[in-house]
Amino acid sequence: MNYNSTRDKNRVVTASQAIAQGISEEGGLFVPQEFPKYTLEDIKAMCELDYRGRAKKIMGDFLGDFTAEEINESVDSAYTAEKFGSDNPSPISYIENGNTKMAVLELWHGPTCAFKDMALQILPHLLTKSVKKAYNGKEAVILVATSGDTGKAALEGFKDVDGVKIMVFYPVDGVSPMQKRQMATQKGNNVNVAAIKGNFDDAQTGVKKIFTNADIKAKLAENNMLFSSANSINWGRLLPQIVYYFSAYCDMVKEGKIEVGESVNVAVPTGNFGNILAAFYAMNMGLPVKKFICASNSNNVLTDFIKTGTYDKMRKFYTTMSPSMDIFVSSNLERLLYHMTGAEKVAGFMKALSNEGKYTVDEEVKAKLDKYFWGGFCDDENTQKTIKDLYENENYLCDTHTAVAVNVYQQYVAETGDNTPVILASTASPYKFAQSVLTAVTDEKLPEDEFAMVDELSAKTKTAIPAPLAELKNAEVRFTFECAVDEMPKAVLDSLGIKA
Ligand SMILES: *Cc1c(COP(=O)(O)O)cnc(C)c1O
Repeated sequence: MNYNSTRDKNRVVTASQAIAQGISEEGGLFVPQEFPKYTLEDIKAMCELDYRGRAKKIMGDFLGDFTAEEINESVDSAYTAEKFGSDNPSPISYIENGNTKMAVLELWHGPTCAFKDMALQILPHLLTKSVKKAYNGKEAVILVATSGDTGKAALEGFKDVDGVKIMVFYPVDGVSPMQKRQMATQKGNNVNVAAIKGNFDDAQTGVKKIFTNADIKAKLAENNMLFSSANSINWGRLLPQIVYYFSAYCDMVKEGKIEVGESVNVAVPTGNFGNILAAFYAMNMGLPVKKFICASNSNNVLTDFIKTGTYDKMRKFYTTMSPSMDIFVSSNLERLLYHMTGAEKVAGFMKALSNEGKYTVDEEVKAKLDKYFWGGFCDDENTQKTIKDLYENENYLCDTHTAVAVNVYQQYVAETGDNTPVILASTASPYKFAQSVLTAVTDEKLPEDEFAMVDELSAKTKTAIPAPLAELKNAEVRFTFECAVDEMPKAVLDSLGIKA
């Protein structure tokens, strides 16, 4: 099982090279050359396994140059009851609301209370093993630019992992107070955090520049280190996400909600297109999925793309209450297009996107998009209405991102009448966005302090504050460093103890 680049079919790498490298040299993303195929009998057998068993089966089929032992060890260290609250890291809540019935797949029971944990708890294990295989024991230096959730999830996943150092950059005024506190109090001996005086794009551009800076790369090489990336285009982040769609399907079978072989729909609040693409991959492997409902907030570049076939990133930017979806360039969409049309055309689309800010797919691709995808969006006002409605009528509290998906899914059902059972991805704990959620469920004046809001949300809704967030209140602040964008290279070298 090998991988090739979305922009050049002749660049072929092993699984461990794909994970260690993160991105292909010419800018393409790594995709599997083929998909393992599961019959209904295979899925039936998978239903008898627990989450870890299902993960071992699926990931083993993709990681050609990993031993069974390496896969077992990675899975068993990542998905523990200690880290995810139970042996099933992604439990389902069944909610009926208005004209809809939803299997809400809660992906936020991990250490940072957002769905990124599902991949970032296992990535460090896959990555260190990959670096060992592909680069013979060099120390990996992970740099992350974050708008909030990824940074914390990466820090928590990589903390105290041997053979890795990690540094996270976040925009000084661009993350929520809770997210800031999560990062500033991070524990671990191999972690570093810096706030940069700029926005998320500045942080991301700064990191990309360091990755490709020949001078800095040479300095790392002298010290037996190399850069690697934990961002959402790494194959090692996508692969673990395929598992929970199979697992959710199996859980629904076990819980008597569906029969093996019955079709489901999947609805996902989408930003970088990773989570929904993982569901599409699951379908390619044999999971009976009929339709993928792609939910956006007011930054609805994907809604327009799915409706018109034109991807146009030149538009007004909205800062919304679902910040993890405030994205204009959905990187993983490139992989979907590759599977629908091939490397040559994808290279052309990506070139047009970077030169002209947009591209249009042809009729054939548009027809494939129409067959599988339905896109919709939900603004902040309707996000809050949805949170309030679910809480007051179904006694279910959800976060802002999940509410976007619920709202868009309800639009889908209203428009199409399609009542196929749905797996709806719930991507964050409501407590991670306490202010927006509290505003939705109460008319009273909000307290000023973030932790007071968290307490109030718990008191009002009689739900428990997730332990990792409750602990933050009294955690020691370790990182207060701030720097300008052009000081980022020096900050990285300083943190590695290398002379600039
Ligand atoms: C990252 C994130 C998303 C978007 O997921 P993609 O895979 O980038 O589409 C949605 N919700 C939350 C809470 C997230 O952290």
